[in-house]
Amino acid sequence: MSGFAGRLAAVRRRIENAARAAAREPGAITVIGVTKRQPASAVTEALAGGLADFGENFVQEALEKMAAVDDPRARWHFIGGIQSNKTRSIAENFAWVHSIDRLKIARRLSDQRPDSLPPLNVCLQVHLGGEDTKSGAPPADIPALAAAVSELPRLDLRGLMAVPPPETDPVLQRAWFARLRELLEVLRAAGIDADVLSMGMSADLEAAVAEGATHVRIGTALFGPRS
Ligand SMILES: *Cc1c(COP(=O)(O)O)cnc(C)c1O
Repeated sequence: MSGFAGRLAAVRRRIENAARAAAREPGAITVIGVTKRQPASAVTEALAGGLADFGENFVQEALEKMAAVDDPRARWHFIGGIQSNKTRSIAENFAWVHSIDRLKIARRLSDQRPDSLPPLNVCLQVHLGGEDTKSGAPPADIPALAAAVSELPRLDLRGLMAVPPPETDPVLQRAWFARLRELLEVLRAAGIDADVLSMGMSADLEAAVAEGATHVRIGTALFGPRS
């Protein structure tokens, strides 16, 4: 087994164990391989190993990698901070955007999504913790933002994403993810048809799966340290 195949098997085993403990179906959890600062060859190897979803944080790096990989099996997810002048490239080249935190960006993405492509799948990024360095909208702003985004014609609002403050205690990890799950429940109670929880990374995927993650974003556990 190649290095990548072994690491993917280990990640899938972690997800299976966490899903079983929570009486969830492991197949309901999508693994997004986060390939930021990894070479195009990492994507090619992962595609051969059966992974189809890839997350990127930087537009220029992602476009170069897409061109190098040039494989229609790859589904690209934008998970980084979004500047206004990058929305067109994102709208034209990605299948998903997980990091929408303001209406202005959502409107631009909807306006710029080509008619030849299906609507762009989007998640709203929630700023759960107190740090000022992380992006995301405050939880209190999410219901109004979700209502507005769900009206945009070329976006399909799928759910919520978060990168909580790093915790080593699984109980504290779960508490952050539970907040995101509860916020999604608030949206659903308000009539918004969204069911995606994009949460969990290499260090805390078990806690995220326990709280209902549907998409985990895994970098180092699959691809090793970043350059
Ligand atoms: C880098 C990154 C990840 C992957 O983190 P790892 O700890 O390497 O698994 C997931 N989500 C986002 C938003 C990231 O920026």
